Amino acid sequence: MECVKICPLEAISKSGKTIEICGKKMKIADVDYEKCSKCKNGVLPDMYYEKAKPDRIAALCARTCLVHLEKHKRINNLFEIGFRQRNVWKIDKHGEIIGQKNENFKSKNKGKGV
Ligand code: SF4
Repeated sequence: MECVKICPLEAISKSGKTIEICGKKMKIADVDYEKCSKCKNGVLPDMYYEKAKPDRIAALCARTCLVHLEKHKRINNLFEIGFRQRNVWKIDKHGEIIGQKNENFKSKNKGKGV
C-alpha cells in the first residue's frame, strides 16, 4: 500500500485489520491516529468535534492513495490532467522536509496553475 510507504510517521500498519459493516467483511489499514494528530503533512483537526479522529482527507497518505489509484486506473473518473502535477515533498518525524521527484510530471502542464 502506497500510503504505508509514504507515511513519515509510520502510522499505518502493514498488516491491517478486518472490520464488518452490514455483514460484509473488509480489510482496512490499522491507523495510529495519535501519530496522525502530530503529522505536518496536510492533516487537520476535525472541525466539528474536538475528540474526533484527525481529518486526513487532504493528507499526504490520502493524496498518495489517490495518485496510485489514478496511475493504475483503479478509478473510473479520470481527468485529462493527473491529480499530482508537482514534485512530492513531505515533512518527516524530525520536522525535516524531504523531496521526491514526481514521475508523472508533464512539462506541458507547467505554468497552468495545476
Ligand atoms: S495523516 Fe500523516 S501520519 Fe497519518 S497516516 Fe497520513 S501521512 Fe501518516
